[in-house]
Amino acid sequence: MIVAVPRETREGETRVAMVPELVGKLTGLGYEVAVEPDAGRHALLSDEEYVEAGAVLDADAISTADVVVSVQPLARDAVRRLKRGAATISFLPVNQELTLVADLRDVGATAFAMELVPRISRAQSMDALSSQALVSGYRCAIVAAGMLRRFFPLNMTAAGTVQPAEIVVLGAGVAGLQAIATCKRLGAVVRAYDVRAAAAEEIRSMGAKSIDLELDTLEGTGGYAREMTEERAQLQMERLAPYIADADALITTAAVPGRQAPLLVTSAMVEAMKPGSVVVDLASESGGNVEGSVAGEVTRIGNASVWGGKNVPASMPGPASRLYAQNVVNILTLMTSRAEGDAGVFAPDFEDEIVAGSCVTHDGAIRHEPTRAAIEGPSEGEPTS
Ligand code: NAD
Repeated sequence: MIVAVPRETREGETRVAMVPELVGKLTGLGYEVAVEPDAGRHALLSDEEYVEAGAVLDADAISTADVVVSVQPLARDAVRRLKRGAATISFLPVNQELTLVADLRDVGATAFAMELVPRISRAQSMDALSSQALVSGYRCAIVAAGMLRRFFPLNMTAAGTVQPAEIVVLGAGVAGLQAIATCKRLGAVVRAYDVRAAAAEEIRSMGAKSIDLELDTLEGTGGYAREMTEERAQLQMERLAPYIADADALITTAAVPGRQAPLLVTSAMVEAMKPGSVVVDLASESGGNVEGSVAGEVTRIGNASVWGGKNVPASMPGPASRLYAQNVVNILTLMTSRAEGDAGVFAPDFEDEIVAGSCVTHDGAIRHEPTRAAIEGPSEGEPTS
């Protein structure tokens, strides 16, 4: 069976779903690996490296493949070229890709969404949201350090002492904790806040100070945050304002699954920051934690420069691709059985929680119920209101 690795075509996407270093893992599972020429170019991976690792180059890999692995969802014309019954494994933000999901259903594809891999211990090695959040969190800290016109660490020199930078991080999930760790390694003083109960301890374990706003914690299902009420949001802003006004740099990474990113910082709060302050909003693309941040741009609010993140993992395509490719290898391993003669057979077990949870379409049907309802309406017998 053939696993295809296409060249990513979405604007700004520099990552690739498989790296030469891991091609051997797929051939070891018994697959042939077909890579589109130039697939790894933006991640500085050459066609020759893929071939040396055991892959073949094929400009039409998508049409012959049994499984297509990509970072971004396939383009609509690529979906039409899929072999009937072929599988796709990629990020697939179902809420934003309803037309594409309908196309995948119509061509009989078995589509898996990396975002939907359940966050259970057994699936940790397949968790691409986490692997890419790690890259984003690191990058946010580096961007803040690069934009700030002062030292991060304390410097005690013969010419006097330079005080360390003071950083505030909002949201301490995978990305936020990595941003905290990176700022700490650079020597800054870091304070952080998150609404989850477990977060304060996690923040402290990174060597940062946990900001206590004396507000209730907000935890939803699966250890994720819940959405705030208007009143709670207002109170949180009021109590955070003095910490933000005192900070040299603010990094925001807060998200609530399936919702727009919560607005945590108003432009008035940014305007109260000191001259030369820096704001890095990782959530810019999904609505923004900071009012006025624009994805992919640096805007000026008051005295601060506000950087809005846009496909941040793509700014470090080498490591981001390597981590993503390992997630892909791990999920493919789960979905592979061995035929006689050691050929790999792609045979996902739909009884498996990870397979069932991440499957969006299969055999002409939409398996992910909220997406099915959004595209096809309520199922028979289900009330419409
Ligand atoms: P995320 O990307 O959904 O959100 C980022 C952070 O923003 C979260 O920590 C969240 O609590 C925080 N947040 C939301 N609203 C906020 C607000 N109003 N103010 C401040 N902060 C706010 O989160 P994530 O990085 O995916 O991690 C969320 C949880 O999932 C964590 O507990 C993490 O440890 C857990 N997790 C589990 C697994 C696994 O078991 N496989 C993998 C990754 C993460």
